[in-house]
Amino acid sequence: MKERCTIFRLSVCPRCGRTYGEPPALSRVDGQTRICPDCGTREALDSIGVKPEEQEKILATIHRSMGRF
Ligand SMILES: [Zn+2]
Repeated sequence: MKERCTIFRLSVCPRCGRTYGEPPALSRVDGQTRICPDCGTREALDSIGVKPEEQEKILATIHRSMGRF
């Protein structure tokens, strides 16, 4: 039987400075910087012309649906 590792490695997002334990997203800016999933969503929304103000509203909605703050 194999043991499953459930320890999450914490990373600090260079974009917003948040400490996160979720799998990182790759920044679209250079394709190699690891950023938090929220910033990944922000960059994706930004690329389709969504304003920062709207981005935060969308993120809040995503967080609510995932049950975190
Ligand atoms: Zn971030």
